Amino acid sequence: MPEYSFTCIYCDQSDQIVPLLLFQYQGKQYWICPQHLPILIHKPGQLAEKLPGLERIGPPIGHP
Ligand SMILES: [Zn+2]
Repeated sequence: MPEYSFTCIYCDQSDQIVPLLLFQYQGKQYWICPQHLPILIHKPGQLAEKLPGLERIGPPIGHP
């Protein structure tokens, strides 16, 4: 895979297929597609495999 090809950390779809959003975590930059952005927001623990340490982040308090 070429270095300049960016993919969603969750589903590995490339920016050729879906729009990708850039975010930063522990000094590194990652991409995620809008489909999976809610996982990062609501269930970050599901991304702990890709982003070690996220399992420590609980869901927002008071969020339904
Ligand atoms: Zn995705």
